[in-house]
Amino acid sequence: MRISCSNDKKIFTEHKEGIPYLSSCMLDSLGVPNLFATRFISWDEKKGEGVEGLRTSLMEGDDISEAAPVIQEYRDRLARQLGSSIDFECVTDQRHTSFVHVASESDLGIRWPRRLPLHRQYVDGVVTDLPDALLTAYGGDCPPVYLADPVRKAVGLVHAGRKGTLGKIPAVAIARMIVNFGCDPADMYAVIGPGVCMDCYEMGDEIYDEFAGEWGRKAADRIFARYPSGRYHLDLREANRMTLLETGVPEDHIAVSNVCTACNADTLYSYRAGRLENEGTAMIVNRWEK
Ligand SMILES: [Zn+2]
Repeated sequence: MRISCSNDKKIFTEHKEGIPYLSSCMLDSLGVPNLFATRFISWDEKKGEGVEGLRTSLMEGDDISEAAPVIQEYRDRLARQLGSSIDFECVTDQRHTSFVHVASESDLGIRWPRRLPLHRQYVDGVVTDLPDALLTAYGGDCPPVYLADPVRKAVGLVHAGRKGTLGKIPAVAIARMIVNFGCDPADMYAVIGPGVCMDCYEMGDEIYDEFAGEWGRKAADRIFARYPSGRYHLDLREANRMTLLETGVPEDHIAVSNVCTACNADTLYSYRAGRLENEGTAMIVNRWEK
């Protein structure tokens, strides 16, 4: 696959067997199965090309009865590549909130087209300490943030778009992990997954004002910059990294994506790049192999 990175750091590994995906080197080293899927259903290394069209989430205008079986099959195949299945999956509807759900046994394996139960609607993150639970999130430029605590054997996954980032959704998830599982942020690891880079993320002045209002001007000035166009750009990665540091996750336990969805729109789904036939899929399994 042709994935361009913004630096030479080895943050993700490419997997080209089956349905291709990227995995986080940090989570891999902890023995936690994880992935971020591409646009491709398969990849032919010899030809250097893939079959596009991976579909894992319902998009606006989809006919549910037609789309659901296809989506479920692809999600299940991805899950199986991590040694799991959608029978263990907990997914939310993701509405750009900062709400985080604590998954219980009865939350696992609920499939479309069945409507998600009320407590999983208007939610953008899930945390769990259930062994083998699979968490799934989507994004079409909004980075997923993966959380893992090897001491309490718990994981989390949040959809950190602009609004979730503003609402510090990674901190909300960590707070729920502290309260429900007894986690200590000092033990935790966090990965800011593939999402839009600062160069590709132009913002109106009102968004700067919004962050300056909530976070203070000093913090806003660290994550926004005026580009030569005269427009602001927002660094979602740095914003989420700041939130993670604030909660007490050690700096060397945080891996920051160097893969931009918009810069890699031929390989990854991207809203900003006008390539959002589907969304990028993030998964993490609460299994610890080491
Ligand atoms: Zn970019």
